Amino acid sequence: MKPILVVGGGIAGLQAANILHQSGRDFILFEKGSALGGRVSSIRKDGFILDRGFQVLQTSYTEVQRSLDLSALQLSYFDSGAMVKDQVFYNPLRRPFDLFSSDILRLKDIFSLIKIWLKLQGNVPALDGKKHSTQELIESYSFSDRFKNEFLIPFFQGVFLQESLAQPASLFFYYLHQFLYGNAAIPANGMQAIPDQLASNLPVESIRVQQEITKLDAKSVTLFSGEKIEGEAVILAVDLPVAAKLLGLDVPATLASKTFYFYSNKSAPQPPLLRLISEENLLHFTCLTDVNPGLAPEEKALYSATSLRNSSKEEVKLALERHLSGVKLHFLEEFDLPHSLQVVDAYDSIKKAANGIVLAGDYLQFPSLQGALSSGREAAEDILGRS
Ligand SMILES: Cc1cc2nc3c(=O)[nH]c(=O)nc-3n(C[C@H](O)[C@H](O)[C@H](O)COP(=O)(O)OP(=O)(O)OC[C@H]3O[C@@H](n4cnc5c(N)ncnc54)[C@H](O)[C@@H]3O)c2cc1C
Repeated sequence: MKPILVVGGGIAGLQAANILHQSGRDFILFEKGSALGGRVSSIRKDGFILDRGFQVLQTSYTEVQRSLDLSALQLSYFDSGAMVKDQVFYNPLRRPFDLFSSDILRLKDIFSLIKIWLKLQGNVPALDGKKHSTQELIESYSFSDRFKNEFLIPFFQGVFLQESLAQPASLFFYYLHQFLYGNAAIPANGMQAIPDQLASNLPVESIRVQQEITKLDAKSVTLFSGEKIEGEAVILAVDLPVAAKLLGLDVPATLASKTFYFYSNKSAPQPPLLRLISEENLLHFTCLTDVNPGLAPEEKALYSATSLRNSSKEEVKLALERHLSGVKLHFLEEFDLPHSLQVVDAYDSIKKAANGIVLAGDYLQFPSLQGALSSGREAAEDILGRS
């Protein structure tokens, strides 16, 4: 039997390859880049480990629990909550009594949060086909301006990487459920450890990096060199813009973000929390070494900051130093990520144009490691189910 051809070595492609391999099926995975992992990758610089874009592993995701060996990743955990200016807002399910002493919350916020929590007791699919946006949903509750503008909106702008919060309200409920009941974590060696773990189970001879696919159909792929390879089936596990392009469709708009890294001399550790600032040029930042000291050389503190605008490193540094009064920051690196996430949609035109090619990728479900892992599993199981 010919091998199954997997195009794309991100989380979805690696997951598909793992499921095929576990079932004893031959496959060849083609990855355009020089490393595996796609949008999940880390670099090492001057003794620091920097993820290409601030990301966290949400441990409550079912497919994350099923597919990854979490203990081998040696996770460090964020506290469940966020800091708004100098106020901490903890997950009310973990610290319910803090609700009544918080400066950010008014009584009407507590009532609205209880109403939302009651809604979460039912089944919370990420996409239930409802057309309300997250912004509309938030406006439909009577939150105070302060809680809404300083916590709720910036927090979800950071999750969606979208200022308008146009993503569906069902996605808001789904993510909220994960945040309330799960934990946000980063692996000891940065997010790259996740694709590394998925790749470590695969035979090296089946992985071909620096091999860009330029054409494909349901049974073959053509490499940039012009070489054509035949297979039993083809799984297209690339990101949304590339999938659209390879299938001859218009490329949909995607959501961009920028992540900046700075370091300082280490000072007294603070609670490991995301800090929301909702300023013109910045959305949130965090001291990563408060979560995982191993990401920096000893005696150094590592900060990451995320922006949805075209901010400069000088602007971001000034804004951070204002918030971290007295801390002198040094610039390390910036990552400009024009395609970070995508707008949730049914992408019917892509599904129709696939014409026998099996699709995988987070855009088929929702933008996250859960969406990527689960889409990869479904693509592989679709093919395994045929034989
Ligand atoms: C800044 C940022 C923050 C995020 N935050 C989180 C978070 O906190 N939590 C979370 O769960 N998720 C987060 N995500 C989303 C998560 O990273 C993605 O959902 C997931 O990595 C998508 O995996 P994928 O395999 O579907 O796509 P990709 O990772 O895009 O993989 C596609 C692969 O296909 C390869 N490829 C493209 N074209 C070709 C070609 N022609 N031939 C061969 N190979 C090709 C690419 O090089 C790439 O390796 C974040 C993403 C970003 C960018």
